Amino acid sequence: MPGVMPHDIIDLNYDLMDGEVEFNVVGLNEVGLNEVELNEVEGVFDSVCAFCDDGGEILCCEGRCMRSFHATVETGANMCPSLGFSLGELHGLPRFVCKNCEYQQHQCFACGKLGSSNVFSGAEVFPCVSATCNYFYHPHCVAKLLYRENKAAAEELERNIVGGGYFTCPIHKCCVCKQEENKEDSQLQLAVCRRCPKSYHRKCLPRAIAFEDIAEEGIITRAWEGLLPDRVLIFCLNHEIVEELGIPIIDHIKFPGD
Ligand SMILES: [Zn+2]
Ligand SMILES: [Zn+2]
Ligand SMILES: [Zn+2]
Ligand SMILES: [Zn+2]
Ligand SMILES: [Zn+2]
Ligand SMILES: [Zn+2]
Repeated sequence: MPGVMPHDIIDLNYDLMDGEVEFNVVGLNEVGLNEVELNEVEGVFDSVCAFCDDGGEILCCEGRCMRSFHATVETGANMCPSLGFSLGELHGLPRFVCKNCEYQQHQCFACGKLGSSNVFSGAEVFPCVSATCNYFYHPHCVAKLLYRENKAAAEELERNIVGGGYFTCPIHKCCVCKQEENKEDSQLQLAVCRRCPKSYHRKCLPRAIAFEDIAEEGIITRAWEGLLPDRVLIFCLNHEIVEELGIPIIDHIKFPGD
């Protein structure tokens, strides 16, 4: 992610009374990256843009998805498509709800396909039960990931989810040692892939998922600190990094009607 630091996270608060948009800027510097004060945004809304995975001036969806987006082409980094709002449109918004939340059509984080998330009429994708997780899944897709080697258990979980049962998605455990995260111990913080349900403890990260280029070994940066609260942001080895972008190709967000 070229040009990612130093960094500003902007918490866009709406004053519903007069429709004024107020920007609270929390300045980050290279020294203080781990003591970031994300205000109310922390643990509720995503701290980086769902398109380009960078911070800056981001607009939070007030629907269920809890994602954030660069709202205008100007606020996004050069490669971010953004929501494409003009500044006038942005300031005229009483609140922002993304198209996925508006139409209750969310993408499965495993297969990427859109499905209905309307629990009152034939939901196809269901949200992970973790309060800070904003991902939806097809029951079949998440059950297969959670029980790779146990077909019977996967089928049972799939039926449970369809019947309204809860599940915790795969991103909350390390894919190497299968243990949970511990935010107090930096080595046991999770490094979460932004493009697929795969997480590693910081200590379990493969060498090829590096924080900085290791030119002599042909390893390119795939991990960043300070963008997500108490977590490391990664692109796992399943995604090719596009050299000019410094991140994988931005084709992963689907809105209904696109
Ligand atoms: Zn963006
Ligand atoms: Zn949304
Ligand atoms: Zn799926
Ligand atoms: Zn989850
Ligand atoms: Zn681990
Ligand atoms: Zn991945």
